[in-house]
Amino acid sequence: MRAHEAGALHGDIGNRGPAWLRPPQDVNALVPQLWPRTVRRAEAGAVEIGGVSVLDLAAEYGTPAYFLDEDDLRSRCRDFAAAFAGADVYYAGKSFLCKAVVKVINEEGLFLDVCSGGELAVALAAGFPAERMGFHGNNKSVSELTRALDAGVGRIILDSFQEIDRLTALARESGKRPKVLIRVTVGVEAHTHEFIATAHEDQKFGFSLAGGAAFEAAIRVLDEDVLDLHGLHSHIGSQIFDTSGFEVATRRVLELQAQIRDARGVELEELDLGGGFGIAYTTQDDPSPAGDLAKRINKIVDAECAAENLRRPRLSIEPGRAIVGPAVFTLYEVGTVKDVDGIRTYVSVDGGMSDNIRTALYDASYSATLAGRKSDAPPLLARVVGKHCESGDIVVKDEFLPADVQPGDLLAVPGTGAYCRSMASNYNHVPRPPVVAVRDGASRVIVRRETEDDLLALDVG
Ligand SMILES: *Cc1c(COP(=O)(O)O)cnc(C)c1O
Repeated sequence: MRAHEAGALHGDIGNRGPAWLRPPQDVNALVPQLWPRTVRRAEAGAVEIGGVSVLDLAAEYGTPAYFLDEDDLRSRCRDFAAAFAGADVYYAGKSFLCKAVVKVINEEGLFLDVCSGGELAVALAAGFPAERMGFHGNNKSVSELTRALDAGVGRIILDSFQEIDRLTALARESGKRPKVLIRVTVGVEAHTHEFIATAHEDQKFGFSLAGGAAFEAAIRVLDEDVLDLHGLHSHIGSQIFDTSGFEVATRRVLELQAQIRDARGVELEELDLGGGFGIAYTTQDDPSPAGDLAKRINKIVDAECAAENLRRPRLSIEPGRAIVGPAVFTLYEVGTVKDVDGIRTYVSVDGGMSDNIRTALYDASYSATLAGRKSDAPPLLARVVGKHCESGDIVVKDEFLPADVQPGDLLAVPGTGAYCRSMASNYNHVPRPPVVAVRDGASRVIVRRETEDDLLALDVG
């Protein structure tokens, strides 16, 4: 937890919220960068997505529910594909995966990262071509590696010496020659506007660059005739707004690439710089458009290749959050409004940490708006909390809502497309909400609501 936010969470900033939070001029206004692209507030007051009112959506699908703006999702795929033309854009499936989204990713021509047998199964069930998939993970099982080989997954990203041995044995047995990348830990950890660059990195992923493990891994794989080494991979973090961390990471990875060339006379063809591009969760976040990111990253790669006298490798990136995060909002219904001793107003909704764990897990910030109607009431600083038996069950730490917010109101929380449904749990035996795609005035369920029967179906006894 970052220290400045810990204060806000534990109350020493009290009921004023974080220093940057100001009462809005118009509590009904929707800040465009926070919302899916087709979202607006209708004249009568209710928020609409894809031309459909949240009043109709709540009546049809209930709450809580995730609503996905399909045009928004597709436009973000296109933005990345166009901005990074000549590179391979892998959608990081762990951010949110279901068959309908896999189909969109496929139709938009993107590549797809999976990192478990389950994610691979969803991708294959949706007909995604295995050769356009990458398979990640620091502990892929023999069974997962076997399935990846059988399916013909396009890139397996190697993460340990044991995995090199395992995949070598499996490849020999099956007579296949998988294309692999080596995940390099470069000693750069990037978050938001800062990055930390050290010589070492204390984490479970990848081969250490500083300790020489990455070089050794590359040589081992090059010497293994059944593994086809295509390139190096680096992923430095998430919710990044500043590309300077990528600059250090790229320099370090390409230094390794030059070392490999000098040792073996091989210039690797690909360079995967991972994902982590930031999105707006609150008005404080100002993400760069894909075009700006691409310009900066391409410039960095060109400069570092020139410095090492390397041919430019084919670039890959792996955005997850930046593609699906802004395309979704969660719609809740307010159940209670509690003013606690004049300190803070708690607005309880019908979901919480089971559908959005990020506030509790990462101290993430979100925003919210009264979605079912407009209000002329003055702004009131509120904390939006869930219905779970945890005091840390917070959805939005601080937000100005109209002071007349009341039970039965609909509340929408934007930016919940990534790492919300995919990290959802059944805590307190609360069934997980559905995901509903909306487009051109029509809506369809793409992940149905879980039921109590679903929960009981697992309960043997
Ligand atoms: C999580 C992850 C990503 C995607 O991160 P986002 O923040 O969603 O863009 C990409 N690559 C790797 C290896 C990851 O682990």
